[in-house]
Amino acid sequence: MAVPKRRTSKTVTKKRRTHFKLQVPGMATCDNCGEQKLAHRICKSCGHYKGKEIVGE
Ligand SMILES: [Zn+2]
Repeated sequence: MAVPKRRTSKTVTKKRRTHFKLQVPGMATCDNCGEQKLAHRICKSCGHYKGKEIVGE
């Protein structure tokens, strides 16, 4: 098995991990009711998407 010639330094490891985000983005607020919803999806609480009601109440 190959063994790395030089161990990755703490700084390099930390610099790489700056790109790891805590949360997955893709949350948006609903234009109709202001609830948190998934971006590009209809709102769970009121069923609106792009200013139109898709799911009946
Ligand atoms: Zn809504």
